[in-house]
Amino acid sequence: MLDPKVLESWDKEYFWHPFTQMKVYREEENLIFERAEGVYLYDIYGRKYIDAISSLWCNVHGHNHPKLNQAIIDQLKKVAHTTTLGSSNVPAILLAKRLVEIAPKGLTKVFYSEDGAEAVEIAIKLAYQYWINRGKRKKIFITLSEAYHGDTIGAVSLGGIDLFHGAYKDLLFNTIKLPSPYLYCKQNYQRLCDECKNDLLEMLEEILKDKAQDVVAISLEAGIQGAAGMLPFPRGFLKGVRELTKKYEVLMIVDEVATGFGRTGSMFYCEQEGVTPDFMCLGKGITGGYLPLAATLTTDEVFDAFLGEFGEMKHFYHGHTYTGNNLACAVALANLEVFEEEKTLENLKPKINYLSERLQEFWELKHVGDVRQLGFMAGIELVKDKERGEPFPYGDRTGFKVAYKCRERGVFMRPLGDVMVLMMPLVISFEDMDRVLEALFDAIKSLE
Ligand SMILES: *Cc1c(COP(=O)(O)O)cnc(C)c1O
Repeated sequence: MLDPKVLESWDKEYFWHPFTQMKVYREEENLIFERAEGVYLYDIYGRKYIDAISSLWCNVHGHNHPKLNQAIIDQLKKVAHTTTLGSSNVPAILLAKRLVEIAPKGLTKVFYSEDGAEAVEIAIKLAYQYWINRGKRKKIFITLSEAYHGDTIGAVSLGGIDLFHGAYKDLLFNTIKLPSPYLYCKQNYQRLCDECKNDLLEMLEEILKDKAQDVVAISLEAGIQGAAGMLPFPRGFLKGVRELTKKYEVLMIVDEVATGFGRTGSMFYCEQEGVTPDFMCLGKGITGGYLPLAATLTTDEVFDAFLGEFGEMKHFYHGHTYTGNNLACAVALANLEVFEEEKTLENLKPKINYLSERLQEFWELKHVGDVRQLGFMAGIELVKDKERGEPFPYGDRTGFKVAYKCRERGVFMRPLGDVMVLMMPLVISFEDMDRVLEALFDAIKSLE
């Protein structure tokens, strides 16, 4: 291998990193990973770190998993990529069938793409054209404040995080925004409860009563707003939204990109509320964190609206070069097999309970303002003054400082602002969870 110092200088010279202030990045020492094994990442100096954020929320069964590796090798010996624009390939067919089998009942069709944002983009366009194909022109999307659906322009339009989205606001289409459920509940009821759920559903119904004629769809994340800093919904909110969208005949887009593939304790969060949306967007964990793949699942009703003679031009004019890529679909199939073979979801339950218990300890820390969790997803919010709920100044990068402390203890984290995110691979052991939680606890305590 090249001299690590040379790699570091080339990294700073040529590589523009996502969501990264490159001026700061170039002034700091950064991690350059070289290999990984299970939940451990190794950098170019051979130092070892626990991957506490699942390599940005996508790794499921650990890195360098023999079965997932083998699936790619086997497929690679056949073919790496063939187009699915008007032709097909074996793993993409098998995966589509499998996804339909495990998805909420009624989701029967799979449209592939490569990243979560595209899965959402596709849902937007399908929903919009669905009404056109049925002879209606509708324009309005209803969304939630603090939503995050990815960084392409359509997905940003549905999003509600000003920090990420503010600069592009003139490029975006307009939406009607409901308050972020968690923030609304906290402000008005101090906690998630049926009353706050009912208020929010009433607000939605008021909008729908007035505007349903023009509403294409409502979009929301499944059970928790992840990128906003792990803000859970009140239980039953998703189900309530589904009932209203049925009543007023508008479509529902549920973004399970972060929550899908076990993160909340079930394969998909929708299951926990018995919801079948019109569109379910999947990404991140779909390949176990191996290759870029995403999918938009939808119903026969939507699919059928796009059927017609060629000249009727009802079909969906959308696709990407790598749609349904053979290697990605092969590893996604293996990912689902590993869920069964390793009883991943069964083994996860005690870990979720353990995490809840241990998270309670963080409340005692002087600079912890809130602790939030849904399943195996958790966020710990740092504040300057707990009593007054006063945040640290944005420029202080307190979250990053805490993450750097964790790094010294061999734990790799990436915060969302001042929210410390825990998104550990589902396969992590209790011992390694302890290591992560202890490193994080001490790092936050060192702020005192
Ligand atoms: C990460 C994420 C996306 C975007 O996925 P990409 O693969 O990064 O484009 C969309 N929605 C949610 C809820 C996410 O967490």
